[in-house]
Amino acid sequence: MTASVDTTLQELGRQRPEWEPWLAVVEKVLGETASAKWDAAVPDRHEPREGKVPLLAGATLALDASSLRRWTEELIRTACRIGTEKMTTLERATQASLDILSLFNASLCQDGDRLNHTAVALGADPDAFQAVAALIPVPFLHACNRRWASSIAKSWMEGYCPICGAWPAFAEVRGIERSRYLRCGRCAGEWQAHALTCPYCGMTDHNQLVSLMPEKAGASRVIEACKRCLGYVKTFTTLQGSPAAKIILDDLASVDLDVAALEHGYRRPQGPGYSLEVTARGQSRRE
Ligand SMILES: [Zn+2]
Ligand SMILES: [Zn+2]
Repeated sequence: MTASVDTTLQELGRQRPEWEPWLAVVEKVLGETASAKWDAAVPDRHEPREGKVPLLAGATLALDASSLRRWTEELIRTACRIGTEKMTTLERATQASLDILSLFNASLCQDGDRLNHTAVALGADPDAFQAVAALIPVPFLHACNRRWASSIAKSWMEGYCPICGAWPAFAEVRGIERSRYLRCGRCAGEWQAHALTCPYCGMTDHNQLVSLMPEKAGASRVIEACKRCLGYVKTFTTLQGSPAAKIILDDLASVDLDVAALEHGYRRPQGPGYSLEVTARGQSRRE
């Protein structure tokens, strides 16, 4: 992990002592995300994609099943240590004979119904299970972004991530030319977007698009919201884009904006922006 990520983690822990246990989970994810071992699982993507299809859509993945199981169990055990009643129910997910590939696939495709089903079958709290399961594919997705960032079509204009199909975590308005980029909270991907367009429903009527500036947020942090679909995007004015390893932390550190948006009746859409279909197969490691 880089020093700046470490410092941000420590600062967040100081500002929000009640977050310490969850930050330990995030720290584990960021540590794993830096590992090159996931790079081998990223499939080749030479062929050009159709305009609206993320690079991960339709991929067949060969994953090292035992290493995936180790990572999943390690993450779940770290979450159990948070010690709340809900998180402790996740222990059952490490004891059961969990179908690790199917869980990975459901998380990768943001298949909320399947994750819910798995949680219920295991006797784990569904909310806690979904929150932790969402982090399982993050190291793999960062590896995809490392490999594919340069293959993102320049013409990409969708609101969802061109790598993994997720809705953006936030937008960045960069530099003196104020170019607008959307950032993915899963793979850390970045793609350029039109200002004054709702990424969720494509609304361009400026009467339907509002900017909310919560008190204390400062002029460099606003909420851009759409009155038609009631979606919102946190938008940060910045000189340059945040490094990949900091996206999850930037998203967490600006939770005050999420709270303000909710209070105004706006929300982030549930589920993926683009429903991926991915085949994840286990591959035994060649010793
Ligand atoms: Zn993504
Ligand atoms: Zn909208």
